[in-house]
Amino acid sequence: MSPLSRHTIVISPIGDFDSVPLTKVRSDISEIFGCSTEIIPIIEDIAFAFDPKRHQYLSTAILETFANTMPAEALKLLAVTSEDLFIPILTYVYGEAQLGGKACIISTCRLQEGLSPINPMDALVARVAKEAVHELGHTFNLRHCKDPVCIMHYCRSIEDVDRKSNQLCRYCRILLSDEVKKLSGESG
Ligand SMILES: [Zn+2]
Ligand SMILES: [Zn+2]
Repeated sequence: MSPLSRHTIVISPIGDFDSVPLTKVRSDISEIFGCSTEIIPIIEDIAFAFDPKRHQYLSTAILETFANTMPAEALKLLAVTSEDLFIPILTYVYGEAQLGGKACIISTCRLQEGLSPINPMDALVARVAKEAVHELGHTFNLRHCKDPVCIMHYCRSIEDVDRKSNQLCRYCRILLSDEVKKLSGESG
């Protein structure tokens, strides 16, 4: 039997990705979304998304490719990369998601900024897990939340990321459970 089910979220590291943060990412995903996770590398080379003028990768192009090549039976896909991502209107992004769609992506590149010398890995892992849940939240149709400690709060800076919690606020939790009910209805 395939380990993938309609409740599996696939985590797909791109290229040479440091797997240390993934343990925390997986446990936070299963706690918040109630889904199992599988780590399956799907795309190794994202050169097609490289912008030679900006020396960054266009996240929208990577997302589209993942959405088209991900295992059809998986519920959602989270791609993770250490490369610097952008969308045309912004200098950089921590991640991008298809709202109410299948795929999202995060980058650890800008999450390394200003790490305190005390336990830098713990701080990085916490940031990566928050951004992973945030982008996956968008694929479950959650939008940005005004509550600065809600994980769905939009972060303009790394201070914003550190300030928010790793949990959904009460309001977003209700919206998520409605969406999950809808999805399980669809799968029968
Ligand atoms: Zn967002
Ligand atoms: Zn919220």
